[in-house]
Amino acid sequence: MTLLTDQRVTTTFTAPNPTVETAGSVRTQVPRVLAIGGTDPSGGAGIHADLKAIAATGGYGMAVVTALVAQNTTGVRSMHVPPSSFLVDQLEAISCDVEIDAIKIGMLFNQDIIAAVGEWLRSTTHGPVVLDPVMISTSGDRLLDLDAEDALRGLLSLADLVTPNVPELAALLNEPVAQDWDGVLDQAQRLAQRYSISVLAKGGHLTDSPDAQDALVDGATGTMTPFSCERIDTKNTHGTGCSLSSAVATLRVTAGSWAPAIGTAKDWLTQSIRGADALNVGTGSGPISHFNQLWLQGAPCPTLSPEEVAQSWWDDIEAIRTGIDDLAFIRGLTSGTLSQEAFNWYLAQDALYLRDYSRALAQASALAPTAAEQAFWASSAHGAIATEIELHGQWLTSDKLFDAEPSATTNAYVNHLLATAARGSYSELIAALLPCFWIYYDVGSRLVQHATADNPFAPWLLTYADPAFEAATREAIGVVSQHAADVDDATRSRMQQAFVLAAQAELEFFAAPLTTSHQ
Ligand code: PLP
Repeated sequence: MTLLTDQRVTTTFTAPNPTVETAGSVRTQVPRVLAIGGTDPSGGAGIHADLKAIAATGGYGMAVVTALVAQNTTGVRSMHVPPSSFLVDQLEAISCDVEIDAIKIGMLFNQDIIAAVGEWLRSTTHGPVVLDPVMISTSGDRLLDLDAEDALRGLLSLADLVTPNVPELAALLNEPVAQDWDGVLDQAQRLAQRYSISVLAKGGHLTDSPDAQDALVDGATGTMTPFSCERIDTKNTHGTGCSLSSAVATLRVTAGSWAPAIGTAKDWLTQSIRGADALNVGTGSGPISHFNQLWLQGAPCPTLSPEEVAQSWWDDIEAIRTGIDDLAFIRGLTSGTLSQEAFNWYLAQDALYLRDYSRALAQASALAPTAAEQAFWASSAHGAIATEIELHGQWLTSDKLFDAEPSATTNAYVNHLLATAARGSYSELIAALLPCFWIYYDVGSRLVQHATADNPFAPWLLTYADPAFEAATREAIGVVSQHAADVDDATRSRMQQAFVLAAQAELEFFAAPLTTSHQ
């Protein structure tokens, strides 16, 4: 036996890019991998695990079911095995339609199933076959009839790689279970030679080793390639064997030979076992985390609820909000001591602002991703322009007020909104539009309490008590914060900046009547 260098498995796995270069052109073909096996409704083993492992290692997974197994992380309850004619129907449905780049075979359960799979393998064109000789689960349940072991041995020569654990290796040879790694290697070598196949001997069941040791034995050449990687201390290893063999089958297509496929698959498996405890699935031996590596790279996961987003944004502008309450303009409105001239100037600027605010709202409606949001922003655009018209009709009746020019402050606020609208980012635009609802409503809810008989601004202050505006404000907060919770971190951060900038513009807008040299 030739012993090749130990393939120490590293801990960072990158799914191979299934881009294949052909003469002068680049063809992309994702490996199409068929898993044949039993089910596990808890998703950790059998074809459920196979499909996840295939996908996680860069393949397109298909699955043909041999047996329906009622099981969870604690064990098997019962089993339903459909007639083998139905299995053949499933197999033929795939092979008459899809090119199969690799096959992984798992639980076969009985002689009929083994015979049907064998016949189909012989009569079908397909890629390399990995056979995981599933016999007894870690929970101690039989997944292969006792009298089917001989039939399974008969299937071995149709496989290219067989992946037994220590007890399965012994059972295939009809020998006692090996007690140490040397014994395992000896059995693996004899099995590989007897059936002219490659055998991946797995040392996971040998508890005396500090590392997880495996070895690839090539029956044709007698070479042995050892693999070792860190043993991870966890009870959550349900479906590890199924997952490894599916990953190897998938990676064999892209790698072109067994040793690199196994090295990469073990690397991926180590990462997946490392993430197992965090999944917290079931009370027994839980599943591994097939997409752990991908998730570590930042898979989409909801990190914030809309309520949390709204609260954090509101907190971000606390200083601005207190600043608004402290403005001489706001204090003058509540005490009734504000000059009429400053008040009129404010109303004229408000009307000018509303005209462009309405345009920005209309643009949000045009960009909205859903009909409900489109309708909401459109009705808000209508509300803003209707208020502007009303201001002119009822409050800005003199020519001077009617024809006022926008101040620098009004222009700055409006420019922020219209520039954001022009950039075409719905996310940032709706964030910029929010303070005009939220701050205006918040300030108004305090101002309205000062609409007393002796306050000359009482008729104006009462306009802040409009229930329709309160409802619109709540909806705007809901729409924007839900959107912000759904987008990626970078977009959410740009939204938050747009929101804070607009809140600052609100403060300056309220400050302007008493700070601008217009009077
Ligand atoms: N269930 C099915 C359908 C399987 O194919 C396997 C694979 O070996 C198992 C259960 C056992 O999984 P484990 O022994 O890893 O818990």
